[in-house]
Amino acid sequence: MEFRLSSEHRMIRDSVRQFCDEEIAPIADEIESEGRFPGEVFDALGELDMMGVPIAESYGGIGGDTLMYALVTEELGRVSGSIGLSYAAHVSLASKPIEKFGTTEQKERWLTPLASGEYLGAWALTEPGSGSDASDMDTIATAEGDGWVLNGTKQFITNANVAGSVIIKAVTDPDAGYDGISTFIVDPEEDDGYTVSVEWDKMGLNASPTCEIQLDDVYVPEDRLLGNEGEGWDQTKVTLDGGRVSIAALSVGIAQGAFEAAKAYAVEREQFGRPISRFDAVRDMLVDMERKIQRARLLTYRAAWGDSIGEDITKLSSLAKLDASEAAVEVAEDAVQVLGGYGYTEGYSPQRFFRDAKLMEIGEGTSEIQRLIIGRELGL
Ligand SMILES: Cc1cc2nc3c(=O)[nH]c(=O)nc-3n(C[C@H](O)[C@H](O)[C@H](O)COP(=O)(O)OP(=O)(O)OC[C@H]3O[C@@H](n4cnc5c(N)ncnc54)[C@H](O)[C@@H]3O)c2cc1C
Repeated sequence: MEFRLSSEHRMIRDSVRQFCDEEIAPIADEIESEGRFPGEVFDALGELDMMGVPIAESYGGIGGDTLMYALVTEELGRVSGSIGLSYAAHVSLASKPIEKFGTTEQKERWLTPLASGEYLGAWALTEPGSGSDASDMDTIATAEGDGWVLNGTKQFITNANVAGSVIIKAVTDPDAGYDGISTFIVDPEEDDGYTVSVEWDKMGLNASPTCEIQLDDVYVPEDRLLGNEGEGWDQTKVTLDGGRVSIAALSVGIAQGAFEAAKAYAVEREQFGRPISRFDAVRDMLVDMERKIQRARLLTYRAAWGDSIGEDITKLSSLAKLDASEAAVEVAEDAVQVLGGYGYTEGYSPQRFFRDAKLMEIGEGTSEIQRLIIGRELGL
């Protein structure tokens, strides 16, 4: 196994880091406490050609690989979990499936505006009654005339109220089990019957919208079916393999951001006449943070690189997601501890990273579900 960052990888990472430090870091706490989705940041990311990093140039992207995309996601997470989450949902969940499974016409119509940053996308699998057991969905699509009519409710959908296109999973054959699920592209502006019924207040990631969607007799023409009828579940598994690399990268970024805040504080703050970083207990916390981050980063890059070269990454992406998300929670919690009382205040970022990190253990399959997948992949 050999992977390395090329000069192009490093160049993209460094320019995104500069953008993050200059444009996002100064507003990261503010957008979070206001619960404001920062559309202007995504416009700027579009101008930097970052909204379609792993999408072909012919469809508005820059033709980068999954590793390059992971680097960008990590950098965004290092300053703002919210922006990183909305970005990851846009690229790996809402754009990549159209590139992988769409026709040329669908890519021209739906992928190009996503990848070029004209608008954001969303991807809707989860429902009020089905999360971990996602295939047990109630949303149905019924054939009618030259198209389909969609009915149902989708829950916790990132970007659903700011998206220009939403990928919807629905049952087309209730008797066919996994083979009875299909994928549709819905236009929230043009398609009657699509409404956002709830925008959730959350314990973190409040600058990234998380919505409930109602689909009431939403008619879509035949050309909105992504891939063939009945392929929706197989597509979902492929999409989630990629999505877990995103969450792993985002987790590494969140952990890195929390670590940097803790380290900077620890070398400045003095108690008992010396910087607190000189106390073994505080130094050891920082050392363990670094160890966990480096380990999670290696697993994440390994999974991303595997995806880049076309390996089956089901086990690798679950391992990376499980490890990195748990590392992010532990590192961010310790970062709060290093800052003591100030760490518990909104004046400092570790508490934000801590709240954001928790979602990483839940979204795109909980830690319990990752263990289930890894166990299955190990033949256990
Ligand atoms: C901020 C946010 C953004 C999200 N974005 C999206 C999105 O863009 N699109 C989308 O489709 N979904 C999205 N989700 C949904 C997310 O993927 C689900 O919440 C997640 O998969 C868990 O499903 P659930 O909430 O129904 O929990 P449940 O499945 O009800 O799980 C509850 C608990 O039971 C445990 N559990 C369940 N089954 C098992 C089992 N077999 N073995 C052991 N333990 C088990 C779980 O691990 C968990 O601890 C988002 C969620 C949040 C909070």
